[in-house]
Amino acid sequence: MAAFGTVFMPQMTLATFEDSNWSAPELVSSDTIQLHPGAHVLHYASTCFEGLKAFRHEDGSINLFRMDRNIKRMQQSSKLLSLPDFDASLLQKMITDVVKHFADEVPKPPGSMYIRPTHIGTEAAIGKAASPTSSSLLYVLLSPVGDYFSGGDKTLRLLLEENGSRCAAHMGMVKSGGNYASALQPILQARASVNADQVLFCPNGDVQETGAANFLLIDGNEIITKALDSSFLHGVTRDSILTIARDMGMTVSERELSVEELLERAAKPNTEAALSGTAAVLAPVGTLIHNGKECSVGDGTAGETTLKLRKALNDIQWGKAEDKHGWLTQA
Ligand SMILES: *Cc1c(COP(=O)(O)O)cnc(C)c1O
Repeated sequence: MAAFGTVFMPQMTLATFEDSNWSAPELVSSDTIQLHPGAHVLHYASTCFEGLKAFRHEDGSINLFRMDRNIKRMQQSSKLLSLPDFDASLLQKMITDVVKHFADEVPKPPGSMYIRPTHIGTEAAIGKAASPTSSSLLYVLLSPVGDYFSGGDKTLRLLLEENGSRCAAHMGMVKSGGNYASALQPILQARASVNADQVLFCPNGDVQETGAANFLLIDGNEIITKALDSSFLHGVTRDSILTIARDMGMTVSERELSVEELLERAAKPNTEAALSGTAAVLAPVGTLIHNGKECSVGDGTAGETTLKLRKALNDIQWGKAEDKHGWLTQA
């Protein structure tokens, strides 16, 4: 099986913003785009993206999961990066058109079609370090993906990082390329030094998130996770899991969580921890590494509640459970 995100559908939908107007979206080849070497995005990182999925149900229908949330977040990212704004209806049409075009290629569960809307500043103007781009490109790529957990439920090892940050504090809620480049060195160092899978960024002891996923602590019937603020990415999966947990009668505590409290709770026998994001839904965390010491979360294996919550969300996405919150849109 090819690595996640390396296979693309041969076409994508694309719209351009020029002379204060958006063009009508078109279906074009996804092999190449043409950019001036002085394009704003290449020098000043005016770029943002989204990640969502379409699922094939047993009746053959193709269903997009919480597309409205991803569109809103992309509008917000574009605004915070001073990229041209666009109507939600434009991106909704671009997503729906391309998914419909490749409906036959949407894999069956546990696979899905991963959808990657991207927005970049294209003005050729290297003098615009402190000015927004006047033109941009919006496109929607498709990448069919398989079972994220085909290798089994191996638990993740996270290094707790209290000194560094994932990105600049005011950029946390923007899904923008520069943030991932900014987190890469700490992640590579954590891999090389302690064989960690990910870094859990905890600036000044405040447990935030990893490079590309939100962090949830599950202690018995309670889920604890950082309350929304501008310092981290507001995951759609995070919101969905918290909603499902409330539906199941769990207590959801959105609040500050310190490294100290995290380590204290993790040491108890039935505590669980997980990372949430569109690609994996919920990935179990088995080990926290802090100041050279390794602490198992609970017994270090994939938690029962983690797996139950993941299944509940998968069941909705795959059309096996009632979609009572209206999260699915038929393409
Ligand atoms: C995309 C992303 C997430 C997860 O968001 P979802 O909407 O659940 O996919 C979390 N953190 C970061 C930094 C991300 O880029």
